Amino acid sequence: MKAKKSLGQNFLHDEGVIHNIVKIINPKPTDQIIEIGPGHGAITQYLQASGAALHLIELDQDLIPILQQKFDHFKNVTIHHKDALKLELDTVNDPYKVVGNLPYNISSPLLISFLYQSPQIEQMIFMLQKEVVQRICAEPGSKLFGRLSVMLQHRFDCVAHLSIAPEAFNPRPKVDSQIIQLTTKVNPTDVKLPVLESLVKQAFAMRRKTIRNNLKKVISVEQLEAAGIDPSQRAETISLGQFEKLALLVEQSV
Ligand code: SAM
Repeated sequence: MKAKKSLGQNFLHDEGVIHNIVKIINPKPTDQIIEIGPGHGAITQYLQASGAALHLIELDQDLIPILQQKFDHFKNVTIHHKDALKLELDTVNDPYKVVGNLPYNISSPLLISFLYQSPQIEQMIFMLQKEVVQRICAEPGSKLFGRLSVMLQHRFDCVAHLSIAPEAFNPRPKVDSQIIQLTTKVNPTDVKLPVLESLVKQAFAMRRKTIRNNLKKVISVEQLEAAGIDPSQRAETISLGQFEKLALLVEQSV
């Protein structure tokens, strides 16, 4: 079956890389795991063997019979023909691990959608485009520090693992890949995610402009200073803690 570019299909075939990602996921019989985009089941077979309760979310209709043939007879596996972007976890009580070699074309919206469901998520382990992993884990002062860094670091502790060359996949992607482990923080700062997201979006809208200019419609110079920010700073030099303080100030002023 020909891989579908529109569905970000780059299937893993390197057993060493597959073992590495499974080792980081560290599946246990007591785990509840959601795998996004199982494809032909390269990672799935090892997750199933661990005895974990496993939910497979695959959008490609053509892959469903293949997955059914391989996994339907296992009691611990449930196959869902579903769009991961429409996944809603807020009806479940137990925390899940969410894992997968994500379709790179939709990785940022998927990450933001899981961010909003983080109370139901214990950990996320993904293969992503290397540049996206570096953006998520970036520190203030780096050119890569931006919306994804602030939003994901707000809710998760982020660890970047191995870089993976295109040869590990079939077909080969045009970019390098990397594994990331995101662990949900037990006590994240209590700010409203939509407030933080809207603020961060505006703060990084024009990266060369000062924070005072980018946020002039939503925040005063006094509020910036109250959060310990020099109004002439650029967004990429502002820490996560300062963004969280700004979001709290915005919440208080509405
Ligand atoms: N896990 C397999 C592997 O490592 O070989 C496949 C990974 S491939 C990069 C991405 C997978 O995600 C494909 O199976 C693709 O069909 C699936 N996919 C793409 N968009 C999706 C979506 N919105 N929801 C669920 N699965 C999707």
